[in-house]
Amino acid sequence: MFVYALPMTTRFRGITVREGLLLEGPAGWGDFCPFPEYDDAEARAWYDAAHEAAHDGWPAPVRDAVPVNAIVPAVSPSVAHAMVVASGCGTAKVKVADAPGSLAADLARVEAVRDALGPGGHVRVDANARWTVDEAVAAIRALDRAAGGLQYVEQPCVTIDELAAVRRRVDVRIAADESIRRASDPLRVAVAGAADVAVLKCAPLGGVRRALEVAEACGLPCVVSSALESGVGLAAEIALAGALPSLEFACGLGTGALLAADVVAPLAPVDGLLPVPRTAPVPRLADAPAADPERTAWWRARLARVEALR
Ligand SMILES: [Mg+2]
Repeated sequence: MFVYALPMTTRFRGITVREGLLLEGPAGWGDFCPFPEYDDAEARAWYDAAHEAAHDGWPAPVRDAVPVNAIVPAVSPSVAHAMVVASGCGTAKVKVADAPGSLAADLARVEAVRDALGPGGHVRVDANARWTVDEAVAAIRALDRAAGGLQYVEQPCVTIDELAAVRRRVDVRIAADESIRRASDPLRVAVAGAADVAVLKCAPLGGVRRALEVAEACGLPCVVSSALESGVGLAAEIALAGALPSLEFACGLGTGALLAADVVAPLAPVDGLLPVPRTAPVPRLADAPAADPERTAWWRARLARVEALR
């Protein structure tokens, strides 16, 4: 058992250090890393995902490598252009709606990203549920023009009903991310009218097998995205992308670059592709940034509480 504290290169979700607990079982290593504000009930799925990796391993992949997208945060057009060119990826996801009144800057950034990718590339945007329905409709139409065609827009609004309302009024595909949190029978119905694409993360869904069940239940094309795990947890997300029966879109798995240090050797995409692992990488604990004793005790206590829920 090892509690890590990884410094990040970019502030993300309001944090600058990513913490989690690595646990080892007969099948290898798992990464238990629910965000600190999650309660034990929500953390339970993250434990299930770590337990699967450590005790059961993952289903066999159906592909050897998965395409990943470049990530473009709220940076200037020239920086965005350079990031996309440096990534080697043919798809870029641009964060938009980062602040009120950001649309003009968003349009300029999306134009720069299209210029960097060329006409054959794919531009998608992620609003992280920041828009109202009317704001989303106006922004999506403008962004679609600026991008010379958007691949999809991720989570324009908060609720499933709002996503459905936006989807009826725009021609751009809608992807549900924050709206997809757990597998259940209503998922197919709930998502069917609200999205064209489902964004999956195996950690909050309870593991690779559970996420594959969600993919089947929702009946939509799926994209796998990381939950900003260490390289151990990221391997599970890549394994999910490797095991999906079909994969039409590049995945949001090139997040290793957001960590300034990791528990394993950094995994960087080559020509926009990441290799699919069969097992989680073995962490190099001697070199890994460890949490301080107080945070380590906090994580161990959290693990004990969540284990007791199983
Ligand atoms: Mg998203």
